[in-house]
Amino acid sequence: MAKTKYVFSFGGGKAEGKADMKELLGGKGANLAEMANLGIPVPAGFTITTEVCTYYYKHNRSYPPTLKAEVEAAMKKVESIMKAKFGDAKNPLLVSVRSGARSSMPGMMETVLNIGLTTKTIPALIARTGNERFVYDAYRRLIMMYSDVVMEKAAGLEVEEGKGIRVQLEHEMEALKKQKGYTQDTDLTAEDLKQLVEIFKEKVKSVLGKPFPDDAEKQLWGGIGAVFQSWNGKRAVAYRRIEGIPDDWGTAVNVQAMVFGNMGDNSATGVAFTRNPATGENKFYGEWLVNAQGEDVVAGIRTPAPLNEATKTEQNKHMVSLEKAMPATYKELEAIRKLLEKEYRDMLDIEFTIQEGKLWMLQCRVGKRTGTAALNMAMDMLKEKLIDEQEAVMRLSPTQLDELLHPIVDPNAEKKANPIAKGLPAGPGGACGQIVFTAADAVEWAKNGKKVILVREETNPEDVEGMRAAQGILTARGGMTSHAALVARGWGKCCIVGCSAIEIDVKKKVMSVDGKTYKEGDYLTLNGSKGYVYQGQLPMISASENPRFVHFMKLVDKYRRLGVRTNADTPEDAKKAREFGAEGIGLFRTEHMFYGKNSEEPLFYLRKMIVSNNEQERRAALDELFPYVKKDIKATLEVMNGLPVTIRLLDPPLHEFVPNEEDKREKLAKSLKIDKKEFAKRADALHETNPMMGHRGVRLGVTYPEITEMQVRAIFEATAELLQEGKKVFPEIMVPVVSTVEELRDQKVIVDKVYKEVCAKYNLKAIKYLYGTMIEIPRAALTAGKIAQEAEFFSYGTNDLTQMGFGFSRDDIGGFVPAYIEKKILPADPFNILDQEGIGELIQIGIERGRKTRPNLKVGICGEHGGEPSSVAFCHRVGMNYVSCSPYRVPIARLAAAQEAIRENRKKK
Ligand code: PEP
Ligand code: MG
Repeated sequence: MAKTKYVFSFGGGKAEGKADMKELLGGKGANLAEMANLGIPVPAGFTITTEVCTYYYKHNRSYPPTLKAEVEAAMKKVESIMKAKFGDAKNPLLVSVRSGARSSMPGMMETVLNIGLTTKTIPALIARTGNERFVYDAYRRLIMMYSDVVMEKAAGLEVEEGKGIRVQLEHEMEALKKQKGYTQDTDLTAEDLKQLVEIFKEKVKSVLGKPFPDDAEKQLWGGIGAVFQSWNGKRAVAYRRIEGIPDDWGTAVNVQAMVFGNMGDNSATGVAFTRNPATGENKFYGEWLVNAQGEDVVAGIRTPAPLNEATKTEQNKHMVSLEKAMPATYKELEAIRKLLEKEYRDMLDIEFTIQEGKLWMLQCRVGKRTGTAALNMAMDMLKEKLIDEQEAVMRLSPTQLDELLHPIVDPNAEKKANPIAKGLPAGPGGACGQIVFTAADAVEWAKNGKKVILVREETNPEDVEGMRAAQGILTARGGMTSHAALVARGWGKCCIVGCSAIEIDVKKKVMSVDGKTYKEGDYLTLNGSKGYVYQGQLPMISASENPRFVHFMKLVDKYRRLGVRTNADTPEDAKKAREFGAEGIGLFRTEHMFYGKNSEEPLFYLRKMIVSNNEQERRAALDELFPYVKKDIKATLEVMNGLPVTIRLLDPPLHEFVPNEEDKREKLAKSLKIDKKEFAKRADALHETNPMMGHRGVRLGVTYPEITEMQVRAIFEATAELLQEGKKVFPEIMVPVVSTVEELRDQKVIVDKVYKEVCAKYNLKAIKYLYGTMIEIPRAALTAGKIAQEAEFFSYGTNDLTQMGFGFSRDDIGGFVPAYIEKKILPADPFNILDQEGIGELIQIGIERGRKTRPNLKVGICGEHGGEPSSVAFCHRVGMNYVSCSPYRVPIARLAAAQEAIRENRKKK
């Protein structure tokens, strides 16, 4: 067997890897290799593969035996390209060590810069650069990062927040600045920094009990180990959970020659996007800082300047752009932008450094974007012929589409309100909620059903869970590429950064703007698209229709094969869903007419029917109820003119409807001409221990055929009347909670009888309709072959199928499912994301057996999973005819279905 290759080199215009090797080299490593291959100036380096990470965790945190020799050989190559030697006393090479997983995890793992600075190499570097201050500044940064990342975090030392070595060193630096009367880090002279590094080294030794390593080789391996360790660090694990990144992917490690953006005023560092990541506008967009290292931009410590003149904003128009300050370098960067977009056929996020006038590219990756930007870019790139239609459809994730359907601050209300502060518009849409000042509070408050705005000085990766829980995020510092901005944009969450007018006191849990104080729990409204902060609660409206959205959805439907219907119980919902592209109703829950608006009267008659205790009484109540049911069904059938409507017969357990209020009970008793005692007796008799598995669904129709009869008559009469009015209506009668074909046979007798009567009454030869069932009990799935003898369609009720398949009560899982997910016993809440392995197999069996009996059996799903993207993809794969979901999820289901069809097409090729 060939020896596994663990290290891949790049630099000097070539590379051993390429862009499509992300699994092995991680995103960063694969893209560095690709840039090197394209002849883009990349500091030479090498990537240690993700396989080493997997090996490391499988082998008790040790490396493959051949790794050391491979690293040494790769370092030799770097040395020869960069014409310097790692650890050398004459001409030393410094390197950075960075993580790089398959999919980007911004700021979640560790980085160490300036590795290779030791008492041996420092004098040589000073001689070479002639810049003592620069070298000592690099050295103090190395000590800060290394002691924090390698000696403390990777060593597993648990420290209280704010007590870590890094903070302690920062205090030392502040103390020295204060003593010298300085305000800026840049005020520190070479002599000061020399003194500072000695203080740092002593502090490291006294706090961590070990000296800072004065050996280049030792620093290098310390850095490599720390990156691998950080894969299992708390925040990386938390981020992977949220993003659904598997734990066993592992990270790669990139070791790369250092270049410096902090060597004076002809040096700089920056981050850019090849197009605007918030709006999608085709303009080169970014930020830069003169005389700085990359971390300064991302950390949000200094507010960066705009890249060019065209993208200046209200907030930064007074600053000098790179285009103006270094025109030749800007041109070179602009050319790289074009080359990269052509090569990747996508918007890229790039990092660069300018060292004494020479441009170096440090990173490129496909950039995160808002839903709006994703849509605009996909349609622009299609027009530019950079991508084809199928690719355009793949470019917007279902979650991003969701974001487009989400609310914004009502512009009319906004016109009348005055913002209390302005910041950078980092994440789209609007958000309104109560102020909290820590991520933990955000999580806690959200758990209690509160909507919160997380207000922070700046966010760091430890805050992700709180950011997730919040409606919106507001930070006082940072730029458009700061951590908060990147993460929020990735999620499409409303976010404002760099809002310098706010002053925060986390301890007291208050913030102030212009002398006015806002405390925890006060309301704020954010407009993340403009960067405006308002006091109080402004109304929200749904995002305005983008004409491009309509065009995009047309493309989606061109490639989609799975039908998409909606679950709607009212004409209003049905109308909304039609606007969103629903192709019919997959579930009309009859019982919903007994809740909410205008339900008073029908509910009274339903209750009367329930507490009746003989057929005569029941029939009398049903007769009274009939016109309401018919009217309700007719209204929805009419809205869905031209499209099929699946009407489900009454499903819930009856006792749910028995009132507890004394006056209501009395009124009912009176109308039934019975006394209070008799009423209580009848109501008690309806009580069940397990109502979810009790007298509900078809079981009601079996015991009280007159209930089915009334409903079926309402359906047929409503249909007959609409047909006579010239409408095209297609009712589908659906029987719930079926477990055996005999139940369907029993009910079909009633349906046939009423059908004949209604045809005669309206003088119609035939009424087109389907008779079918829900498959929501495991036995029904298993006996689907028989059930299909009677049922012309199946609709999977995956809410109940999950309940009965797992034996988890759908109403009571809160007590244990979170623990199951935490312990990884379950990958997700099965009531949200379909369990494809178990419940999915029941579905597949049912489809197979059902279609064996009835090849043209129509199959759909109407459980909540019908609007969840991964479950929709599953429904496509198992050959369903349609999914049905709530109106707002209709576009999401359409997109998820189209994307799965495209994936399938691509696999076939
Ligand atoms: C189901 O069980 O999946 C379903 C759609 O029905 P309900 O949620 O009304 O029980
Ligand atoms: Mg059900």
